[in-house]
Amino acid sequence: MQMFRPAFGVVALAVATLATGGEEPLQLIDVKQIDPTIIVSLRYATPNNITGRALYPRNMPALVQSEAARRLARAQAMLRGCGFRLTIWDAYRPAAVQEQLWQAVRNEDYVADPNAGAGSLHSWGVAVDATLSDTWNNPVSMPSDFDDLTPAAMWRYRGSNPSIRAHLRLLQFTMGQAGFYGLRTEWWHFTIEEWRKYLPPEMAKRAAQVLGTSWQGRL
Ligand SMILES: [Zn+2]
Repeated sequence: MQMFRPAFGVVALAVATLATGGEEPLQLIDVKQIDPTIIVSLRYATPNNITGRALYPRNMPALVQSEAARRLARAQAMLRGCGFRLTIWDAYRPAAVQEQLWQAVRNEDYVADPNAGAGSLHSWGVAVDATLSDTWNNPVSMPSDFDDLTPAAMWRYRGSNPSIRAHLRLLQFTMGQAGFYGLRTEWWHFTIEEWRKYLPPEMAKRAAQVLGTSWQGRL
């Protein structure tokens, strides 16, 4: 993307430096650099999303804070041990794209108003949208599709399909173990537990998405 100014960090990882509304630019890395086995399938890089058009360049990487990438690698290691893989549907989301989503949806239960508080935590590199795939990289059954703005998207599965229930619990359990919170209204959305420290303090206080929960149950 035009706004990327790649630089190299101390651990020789390519770092994308991105301007924000805060004082410090974001330093994000591509999750594939930390764990190339994580599947990246950014839905906003294709027309297969709620707006019906691609909002990202085709080659957009899944960018996150380095701590988030390390935690995703931890989750991936646990999942591979069970015969599954993590698939990333969205990671860093530029504020301009958040504005387009907001214009398309205008429902704060699902999309953070980019003009209120910190906007989306995706725009700070501390949140990802994730699902599971099998060892052949095929998506597994889950409660709903990405950005399904219905009760089917809720964190707590209320259906009766045992496979879906098991897949969702595995995703929620491993992401919780790796250090992510979930979101009540979107089973696929995860935020690193210490997200506040990555935002300017004033913005963190006013952050729109504070509906965090974590998986407390058992597999
Ligand atoms: Zn999300």
